[in-house]
Amino acid sequence: MKTFCGRANPTTGAMEWVEEDENYDYHQEIARSRYADMLHDKDRNTKYYQGIRAAVSRVKGRGEKAIVLDIGTGTGLLSMMAAAAGADFCYAIEVFKPMANAAVKIVEKNGFCDKIKVINKHSTEVTVGPDGDMQCRANILVTELFDTELIGEGALPTYEHAHKYLVQEGCEAVPHRATVYVQLVESKRMWSWNKLFPVHVEAEDGEKMIVSPSEMEKCPGVPSVCDIQLNQMPSSDFTILSDVVTMFSVDFSKPVRSASTCYRVQLEPVKSGKAQIVLSWWDIDMDPSGTINCTMAPYWVKSTSALQWRDHWMQCVYFLPNEEPVLQGEQLYLTAWRDEYSVWYQLQKAREEENKADVRVESPVCRCQAHLLWNRPRFGQLNDQNRTCQYVKSLMKVLKADSVCLCVSDGSLLPVLAHHLGAKQFFKANNLEDKIKIIEARPELLTSSHLEDKKISVLVGEPFFTTSLLPWHNLYFWYARTAVTHHLTSNVTVLPQSASLHMMIVEFQDLWRIRSPCGTCEGFDVQTMDDMIQNSLNFRESKEAEPHPLWEYPCKSLSDPQEVLTFDFRETVPPHGLSTEGSVNLLRKGRSHGAVLWMDYHLTADISVSTGLTQISNEKGNCEWNPHCKQAVYFFSSVIESQTPSEFPTAVKYAINFDTKTGEIAMDFKL
Ligand code: SAH
Repeated sequence: MKTFCGRANPTTGAMEWVEEDENYDYHQEIARSRYADMLHDKDRNTKYYQGIRAAVSRVKGRGEKAIVLDIGTGTGLLSMMAAAAGADFCYAIEVFKPMANAAVKIVEKNGFCDKIKVINKHSTEVTVGPDGDMQCRANILVTELFDTELIGEGALPTYEHAHKYLVQEGCEAVPHRATVYVQLVESKRMWSWNKLFPVHVEAEDGEKMIVSPSEMEKCPGVPSVCDIQLNQMPSSDFTILSDVVTMFSVDFSKPVRSASTCYRVQLEPVKSGKAQIVLSWWDIDMDPSGTINCTMAPYWVKSTSALQWRDHWMQCVYFLPNEEPVLQGEQLYLTAWRDEYSVWYQLQKAREEENKADVRVESPVCRCQAHLLWNRPRFGQLNDQNRTCQYVKSLMKVLKADSVCLCVSDGSLLPVLAHHLGAKQFFKANNLEDKIKIIEARPELLTSSHLEDKKISVLVGEPFFTTSLLPWHNLYFWYARTAVTHHLTSNVTVLPQSASLHMMIVEFQDLWRIRSPCGTCEGFDVQTMDDMIQNSLNFRESKEAEPHPLWEYPCKSLSDPQEVLTFDFRETVPPHGLSTEGSVNLLRKGRSHGAVLWMDYHLTADISVSTGLTQISNEKGNCEWNPHCKQAVYFFSSVIESQTPSEFPTAVKYAINFDTKTGEIAMDFKL
């Protein structure tokens, strides 16, 4: 059987249906899953184990049999913990078939076959009774169904159902409770991910300002959660306006209601400022007394919390619908609204609150279209005044009064900038931003009549395309440039005139964990899981890089950054591929986890913008990355540890190939 998967083609910028092996989705899901990251999360694992031991001994202490229901067992880890802690029987429920199969093998390998029954079902399909999946209701409910927003993976409806049908009244639950915390902050940096700031353009005839339409200014944005590694946000990038406040908690040992509701707390700002952002995280108490606590609190709230790195649980950034000036000591009400799967916030001044009783605030829905076109990093990028400045400077160099310009980029402000700089003739080939116009205006279908029979003298692009996943996918600009060649004047200026691909070998502080085998976890052999992930990686991905926003994932450079390929946009895409081979010296001591790759765009001969490394900040090699872009990470399958360079000069050999037919880059490294 074959399945069809939607994928953007970097040579056309369009979504295409690609026929894939029926196991493709499985392998994708496993290869990119967070299971490895969870198994490496020592803090989580030890606390679950403590909580499970305590719950089993409480039940045993009452003279009852300990019957465990583990919803979402994954590798079977929590059920094995329960069995090892003396539980009489465990029902391990897992909806994802490959994981359920793995759990069966892992349970067997660890010798728990007689204590654990793996059931490959969604928990809401599980039956109880003499002929059912479960002989009787359980009296210990163990789950790990949480995402960064706590409820985004459907924990609430799952708990609601389990309490109704699968567990006894008064059961023990591990975790026992979850609590959501919030803190109100002002942050220009984070606010720039959701609103378009006025753009300043220094033109020859004075400064001009581009402002966003009021519709956009008032738009609350999109409902999807913004989850980030808040521990990587320096304290200088935000101002705390309130203490940390408990927003709501859920007791998992009692019936849970998943229906939409709201929670309201009173706040007194500790500082005057502009309320823009609600930062939020949660903790879970593994036992009723709250002595076994696992928290996602950021570094300024709990200095030790950043010690446990994890990527499966981070922190949330919520954007208030509008920024609100607040005064120190003033009475404010913060309301958290939630439905079954998501949370959003509203801030009210005390006086207004008395007047308007409980007007239901709907989850944020973008009304201005901009939030559908630009994701949060893209907003940040467009608000980057330094970046804009480079484009303005280079546009000023290339634009002449009689220029006929064509811009190829998604949701770009370049045409507006060029207009303010005095360009008279400007055309824009919309790629995907306005689907209705695609057919007419896609570069390869551009006709002379679209251009009013003029020839293009300046072709510009950022380039940026919404379908790009990896840095080099924006090379679609080159393909578009090739497609419109016959519309260009013979001495056309192309901006950027070229691009270059850069590469550097790095040691990650933590990110290596997500692709590293685990072996044993809390004394349980989970190698079956490691093998399964490796197998899925080999299925397709092994020679591919993956995108990660590296500002969130600290690393240090072990080699100098190296330019490996260049792409000359003044020429058309060559029929043959571009490839390079070479070796890069390791200059620092460290573990080579992988290579990072990124693109630089050379707007003119002397103005460039980088989407990758901005600087290496100290002699230790700590890297700083463009905060608005994802870089490509290629994880090495084995890690080498290099000693001091003087003693053991080591080099990494590489071979990189850009396939001009597919627009993809394949790479191979030898350590
Ligand atoms: N318990 C494991 C894995 C947690 S990941 C551990 O702690 O290491 C959560 C798992 O729950 C995923 O494998 C997901 O497929 C599964 N899952 C989520 N909701 C479920 C439900 N309602 N019924 C069955 N499985 C579920």
